[in-house]
Amino acid sequence: MDLKDLYRDVIVDHNRKPRNFGPMLSPDAHADGHNPLCGDRLTIYVSLDGDTVKEAKFEGSGCAISVASASLLTEAVKGKSVAEVDKLYGEVHELLTRRDTVAAPGLGKLAALSGVHEFPARVKCASLCWHTLNAALHPPQAAVLAPTSTE
Ligand code: ZN
Repeated sequence: MDLKDLYRDVIVDHNRKPRNFGPMLSPDAHADGHNPLCGDRLTIYVSLDGDTVKEAKFEGSGCAISVASASLLTEAVKGKSVAEVDKLYGEVHELLTRRDTVAAPGLGKLAALSGVHEFPARVKCASLCWHTLNAALHPPQAAVLAPTSTE
């Protein structure tokens, strides 16, 4: 079995049996994501222990890549600090968008997403959950709380 088969098996497995799929009753953070190009819709829920992701769950519906990617994400971020999740987000983004990128050693199973860059239309499917998680962990509070300028 070559690496491509292995990667495909990880995607197929996580699409058929998504990990951490379902609602979270009282999440510390959550956000909705939508990829209009494909029709993927995801909600990511996170419970935090201080600055550490205690648990991540997701629900919604989408194509195989978006579901598998979200499933892999929820496993990958558990137990990581927000700063570590931010770093991982950057590494996954590199992996998805740069043809010549070798998977960073810390990516683990997320390396399975490296096959996605061969299908540019699928990059947004694979990255949707990461953008959504990023929005959950870094809500634009400043913009919401900033007083409206009258000038
Ligand atoms: Zn999709």
